[in-house]
Amino acid sequence: MTHTAQVHQTPCNNPRLLHCSVPPVGLFNLKDFSTPDSFVTATQTALYESKTIVNEIISCRPDITVIQKMDKLSNTLCNVADLGECIRQLHPDPEMIQNAQEACMAIGNYVEELNTNPQLYNSLKALVNSKQYESFDEVTKCTAETFLHDFEINGIHLESSKRDKVVELSSSILDTSYQFHYNTSLPTQVPKKSCPSPLIKCFQESNGYIHVDHIPYYDTNADVRALSYLLFYGRNTGQETLLGNLLNARQQLATLVGYPTFAHRVLKSSMARDPATVQAFLDALNKKILPLAKREVNEMVRLKQEMKPLQGDSDTIRPWDISIVTAERQKQSKLLNIHSVQNYFSLSDCISGLDTFFKALFGIRLQLVPIKDGEVWDTKVLKLAFVHDTEGVIGYTYADLLARSGKLASDCHFTIRGGCELQMDDVVTSYQLPVITLCCSIESDPLSQHAVENLFHEMGHALHSMLGRSKYQNVTGTRCSTDFAEVPSILMEFFLADSRVLSKFAKHYKTREPISSDSIKSFQFSNHFFPAYETQTQIFHAAMDLSLHSEPLKAGETVLDRYAFLHSKYSPIEHIPNTATVSRFNHFYSYAAKYYSYLWSRAVASLIWKSCFANDPFSAESGAKYRDLLRHGGGIHPTTLVKNLLGYDPSISDLVNALYDNVIKKQSLVNTF
Ligand SMILES: [Zn+2]
Repeated sequence: MTHTAQVHQTPCNNPRLLHCSVPPVGLFNLKDFSTPDSFVTATQTALYESKTIVNEIISCRPDITVIQKMDKLSNTLCNVADLGECIRQLHPDPEMIQNAQEACMAIGNYVEELNTNPQLYNSLKALVNSKQYESFDEVTKCTAETFLHDFEINGIHLESSKRDKVVELSSSILDTSYQFHYNTSLPTQVPKKSCPSPLIKCFQESNGYIHVDHIPYYDTNADVRALSYLLFYGRNTGQETLLGNLLNARQQLATLVGYPTFAHRVLKSSMARDPATVQAFLDALNKKILPLAKREVNEMVRLKQEMKPLQGDSDTIRPWDISIVTAERQKQSKLLNIHSVQNYFSLSDCISGLDTFFKALFGIRLQLVPIKDGEVWDTKVLKLAFVHDTEGVIGYTYADLLARSGKLASDCHFTIRGGCELQMDDVVTSYQLPVITLCCSIESDPLSQHAVENLFHEMGHALHSMLGRSKYQNVTGTRCSTDFAEVPSILMEFFLADSRVLSKFAKHYKTREPISSDSIKSFQFSNHFFPAYETQTQIFHAAMDLSLHSEPLKAGETVLDRYAFLHSKYSPIEHIPNTATVSRFNHFYSYAAKYYSYLWSRAVASLIWKSCFANDPFSAESGAKYRDLLRHGGGIHPTTLVKNLLGYDPSISDLVNALYDNVIKKQSLVNTF
């Protein structure tokens, strides 16, 4: 982090700071969070204030103040719980972690209580059923319906015995999914005595066991790759049982609260709206991409045959061959070595690049703000103010970008304060500026290709929060449906893949020489030689996730039976008997029935790119339109927002064709290398 001085730094114009000691401020410059104990106080205060707000809601007339107070309630609780979630995952001090965790749990339990509070629900329902409701603006109605949906998916409208069952199932789902998720990353332990000898040198050993915790995909010995794969992804009856129980509990919960399947419950407020639409999208995509992916697999077979000595069956591609064959393809290409290209991506140049680009599109600069004592949890965390030319500071992003040992979270976005209107005596007095933490795990500076891609992706999420200007914090920024939430982050990947954007900021970190067009090509295409195969893998995972959450297993059918069936339908390579990546698929935890969102959002982002930025990625006019899309968060249904921007409502075939065209375009470019 030696190059950050190039980012626009706010001069420290308080000379006293240099001479006298100033008492430390709290985390995020909030005085309420200066010590571990402050989490206890902040939680007590938030709970006390919340109870007062709840009483106000219950006793007030059914008018707009119900929504305003519901949002204030949500803001009061989120201000402690969201911050706690971030600190729990990033702070090094065990006492801070412990207290932040307890704050999250206390607030979480209280929220559960609120979700099953019939008086609160009745106040909201009375408002939604009132005559004046129709006269409310769209954002208020959308926010009211989001609150209502949150109550109803928790079964508030049910009789009390069913409500108790909902609470019981929700808690069991949480425990089971957490356990399943935790187990997905555990190594397979093999007694040393029975471990195939070529593997012993590849993995760590303790207490007489070999810990198979990854697959050495680049090992030239095919047996090593294959045996590791068979062990790592081998059948795991414990995980299969957990997953079966999880799916069963999710299905029971969904039917109890009035949905045919869990996927119907999850997708109700998404862009896709229902599982049948997602299925139609995936099937149409599969029909177009699978033949292309199969052709790429044939190309992989050819490469595999050329690689000598490479043991193993040479006429088929196995899952453990993909990486090494891709590396061979890279070697045979005319592309420059990706490692030398990395020298053009120092962290400070990447941040300067984002700054230049935000300035052009939105008139927004990134200013590095001096950090006060006590404000952050690690000395390397940066504080970036997003400063608009005329509107001033519109939000703050704390960027915790570098990897360090013990850092739990990687590549994610934490809301600390959601943007919303603040009121005093029912009058809007100010706007609560959004504050977020952007977390990455950058291992080296200059950055690897993967790290640059992740930084830009996460910056897309940050932008969504920073540009959010919704009235209500419950629907601010990234608090929107998942198939829309990935649009801004994936659109950033389109910008990053554009040579006009890359050539604006990528410079050699030592010589300052600008990046050459050959290096740009190498950055764009290294590791992406098989674009149809990449897309097809996502189609398979999305189809598997959707199928398991939308079609309950039949009597006698196991998770593995379903997995093998879907593999044969959606994968371009053969299924390996007695293996199943499903046992290590960690997206079942928080992306259940929503994994398709990555493909869907990519398709939407691609349409936005084509219509707004492909001609000029620095267009201020398109930037203004795009800012309009992002300012509402989840306060307006994403379908309406996308339609307003594009001028039409994209159909399934528009979405499918957008992804298909991208794959074709990438394939034809790759073929020239
Ligand atoms: Zn993302």
